[in-house]
Amino acid sequence: MHIVYYTTSKTRRRLFICFLLIFVVFLLATLLPFVRANLWAARPVAVKGLPLSGKVFVLDPGHGGYDPGVMRDDMKEKDIVLEIAFVLRDYLQAAGARVIMTRESDRDFLAVPIAGPKKQQDMANRMQIVNEAAPDLFISLHVNAIASPRWRGAQVFYKSNCERSKAYAEKIQQELRRVLANTEREIKPGNYYVLNHAASAAVLVECGFLSHSQEAKLLCDPAYQSKVAWAVYGGILRSFSQEEAGN
Ligand SMILES: [Zn+2]
Repeated sequence: MHIVYYTTSKTRRRLFICFLLIFVVFLLATLLPFVRANLWAARPVAVKGLPLSGKVFVLDPGHGGYDPGVMRDDMKEKDIVLEIAFVLRDYLQAAGARVIMTRESDRDFLAVPIAGPKKQQDMANRMQIVNEAAPDLFISLHVNAIASPRWRGAQVFYKSNCERSKAYAEKIQQELRRVLANTEREIKPGNYYVLNHAASAAVLVECGFLSHSQEAKLLCDPAYQSKVAWAVYGGILRSFSQEEAGN
């Protein structure tokens, strides 16, 4: 009798352990997919993206090829803006943005012949690249020159009647004033072909005056070109981080 009782108790204990194991395995099997799914879902929040991830920018170094833009001695607008664009591209890409450049060499856009005079063809083909890319912001880079040698300073123009373009221009101009510390210029709406024909938000940065002797030297200096690019980048970064924060 005593032995029978002992055997029954042992069997019950074994059964209990068996059920307990099955329960634990069942619990783990049920919960694991939830745990894994939640960890996976939390990933983008836990690992922060780059500040401009998912944003698209088109950079347009003005002129090129047959069209040098404004000139002073052997200094040409088309060369200066291309150098600034390369640096700006690198900054934007490092922040996670996708960057499309209308040109990466000394070229024009007459390869695809369309009707109209030479300059108009060039501009129309250039804007086709811009609008096909459908960027978050289109940035055209230029250098100014006027008859009077005393004017200087970088200035941002924006697409008329476009509040987003105006807001981007304001942030970029603020950074140009702060970083370059040589201008008090203000933004203006610009009546330019590239701004008028851009489907997206668009700004045109006049990086300085080639007609000002001191500024002309600065504009050809790689260190100053990087400062201009850094300022434009800073303005873009501030604009887009503010948009993210507002969302
Ligand atoms: Zn120009």
